[in-house]
Amino acid sequence: MKAARADGRRPTVPAVPMNAIAEPSTSLRMRRVRQRNTEPERLTRRMLFALGARFRTCARDLPGRPDVVNRTRAWALFVHGCFWHGHARCRLATIPKTNTRWWLAKLEANRIRDRRKVRELRNLGFLVEVIWQCEVERPSVLRRRVAAFLARSQELGGTR
Ligand SMILES: [Zn+2]
Repeated sequence: MKAARADGRRPTVPAVPMNAIAEPSTSLRMRRVRQRNTEPERLTRRMLFALGARFRTCARDLPGRPDVVNRTRAWALFVHGCFWHGHARCRLATIPKTNTRWWLAKLEANRIRDRRKVRELRNLGFLVEVIWQCEVERPSVLRRRVAAFLARSQELGGTR
């Protein structure tokens, strides 16, 4: 016979921040987004290269540390994980069911920071683009996005 509480409700586990970290899906997502040189980044760089772009990946001195950069042509590109960077209306950007309020605040702070970094880069004269993880997963979408971005950079002539 199962134990029942006097008030008839099922006992619940109190939510503590460690739950979020211990939850397998959450820790997996966190691990994925904190890394450099992720699979989406590699695929994006491969597409850029295939379409004739030349670039560097080390941009520690630039706002937001863009994942790919060409200083001569003054463009910078971010490859964003959909969860960590809070991609709007994206199936990959789910909110964890534990510590939901904490996560909402955290992900909103990430979005605000991302927007600020893009603005700072644009103020430095860079053409900036964000490629999302869910776009990278679809090769035709990735190709179209990268090609459009490079075309725009060509039009602008890359003067900073
Ligand atoms: Zn997405």
